Amino acid sequence: MQDKELYQVILGLESPWSVSEVELDIALGEIRIHVGHPRGTKFGCPECERQLPCYDHAETRSWRHLDSCQFKTLLVARPPRVNCPEHGVKTVSVPWAEKSSRFTILFERLAIDVLLATQTVKGAMGILRTSWDETWYFLQRAVRRGRDRKEAKPLPRIGIDEKAFAKGHDYLTLLYDLDASTVEAISDGHDTESGIACFSQLSPEQIASVEAVAMDMSPAYVKAAKQTIPLAEEKIVHDRFHVMQLATNAVDKVRRGEHRKLMLEDDNRLAKTKYLWLTSEENLSEKQEAQFAEVLTLKLETGKAWAYKETLRELWNHEDVASATAYFKDWYQRVIHTRLEPLKKVARTIRERLQNVVSYCTHKITNGVAEGLNSKIMSIKRRVGGFRNRENFKTAIFFHCGGLDLYPR
Ligand SMILES: [Zn+2]
Repeated sequence: MQDKELYQVILGLESPWSVSEVELDIALGEIRIHVGHPRGTKFGCPECERQLPCYDHAETRSWRHLDSCQFKTLLVARPPRVNCPEHGVKTVSVPWAEKSSRFTILFERLAIDVLLATQTVKGAMGILRTSWDETWYFLQRAVRRGRDRKEAKPLPRIGIDEKAFAKGHDYLTLLYDLDASTVEAISDGHDTESGIACFSQLSPEQIASVEAVAMDMSPAYVKAAKQTIPLAEEKIVHDRFHVMQLATNAVDKVRRGEHRKLMLEDDNRLAKTKYLWLTSEENLSEKQEAQFAEVLTLKLETGKAWAYKETLRELWNHEDVASATAYFKDWYQRVIHTRLEPLKKVARTIRERLQNVVSYCTHKITNGVAEGLNSKIMSIKRRVGGFRNRENFKTAIFFHCGGLDLYPR
């Protein structure tokens, strides 16, 4: 078999296209496959598909294709132009590449597979032998393609959360589909405007389909939801993990204050216990458990605060809103009569937003999905070796977490 015929088969070229020449450049490590068509071939106008004779040819172009035996392989052709009576002179589209791409469809598919497998742009660059910009180009095109194709399906359960970027000085707001575990929208910042910008990326039908929204207790997203989602007040569910985080932080504050006081009397019983109090009872290791039981018998304020925190956890085990509300009111009464100021502050915060904390009983949602995706995003970010800009970061989030159909066809 001649090398021309071989490449014809390998490339899967279809009529009218055929291989006219195969050029091997040993010095460059490149194979250049020249592709052409017979005289008199008709081509479709790219706008209206009308079949027209070849008018002339555009400049010679090349497309990077899959390597042949480690040689970089390029498809070389002069794309024909047609003169459409309706659309004027137009360059026809070639079957092996998407419009304006410098890579064949097969190469782009490979690039997407490699990026998904390595999860790092640098790793993919090494395997594909592409530049930084070229590699990001695959991600960007794949995400644009996937987002254009994505249908606006109903989103009954969504979550909104902030994501720190660039060492925590810069934030993005992410909107999740809690059922599909995908990122549906991203906006800059983490204020009310950011929330509105995220919700507004949903279609009016999607907005109308929202039954429940998980979020932290920050007023920004509450406000944003109220301004964009009808009857938001009944749909907001403050994420239980965020609420428990507030309580855990309060226990730590109590411990620090008490430890400081004890140290003044040379009492260091609370030294090195920070992580004991941060862990929930069921997650303590055996060794910690023994240590913990001992600390609890000391009748310290920190122990009391911890016990209140642990009983708060029960709030999410109630079947209905009424019993959860009653449980909280009882908990509140007990906490508010202590001298545990940080915990009292948390109790007041929850009371203010209680309706949207106990709404968990109705909707049973949390932003756990968001936390899972966040750790995925953070590991992608670490392995990519830093995103050079915010737009790249967004692109990578959609690429890996958008649930998109990324491949060219
Ligand atoms: Zn036309």
